[in-house]
Amino acid sequence: MSLDDITARIAAAEAKAGRPAGSVTLIAVSKVQPDTRVQAVLEQGHRSFGENRVQEAAGKWPAFREDYDGVDLHLIGPLQTNKARQAMELAQSIHTLDRPKLAKTLARLAQEVGTCPDLFIQVNTGEEPQKAGVLPADADAFVAEAQALDLPVRGLMCIPPVEEEPSLHFALLAKIAARNGLTGLSMGMSGDFERAIALGATHVRVGSAIFGERTAADG
Ligand SMILES: *Cc1c(COP(=O)(O)O)cnc(C)c1O
Repeated sequence: MSLDDITARIAAAEAKAGRPAGSVTLIAVSKVQPDTRVQAVLEQGHRSFGENRVQEAAGKWPAFREDYDGVDLHLIGPLQTNKARQAMELAQSIHTLDRPKLAKTLARLAQEVGTCPDLFIQVNTGEEPQKAGVLPADADAFVAEAQALDLPVRGLMCIPPVEEEPSLHFALLAKIAARNGLTGLSMGMSGDFERAIALGATHVRVGSAIFGERTAADG
């Protein structure tokens, strides 16, 4: 696989779903990948990337930004409140708003700084105890809570359980977003992004299918 293959598959999935060309943003998930591979994708003109650790993002993206204009960085991993400020400085979008304490911290920092990244609320659609995200039953209230804090909530995000058919989770996420008037849907990874697009994904997070397998044990 390569960037071109994935963009072609995304275009085909958009067309098949009767969606406008370009309605899906491809987030190239560069976590743990060697700089040379990331640079190759930057050289091809791609600009949207995803990282799941603030520390790792801080270590590599400031330098890439010096060489490439228009980098659009998405934080897609769990965010501790003590790293929120750094995350806001680094990323244009945060996909993992998942609890009131983090919402309050982001709101306070947004007031202070005057801007805030686009936010996606992570929903634990599989209700897995070890996974981050608000439970589906709590999602409406949490969306309202974040909006009451004036946070720029653009949509919802999910990571379906590995063992289950992801489409059920994508459909559930789409339903929760629709009833809350949210248009952004961050869902779909290397193995299932076409199914996510069929169900309305606006942002797909694709790592290994673009860059190759990750060597570190970093899911
Ligand atoms: C690593 C990661 C991805 C990308 O996974 P691939 O299977 O390599 O495409 C997507 N979303 C999140 C939240 C991730 O942590």
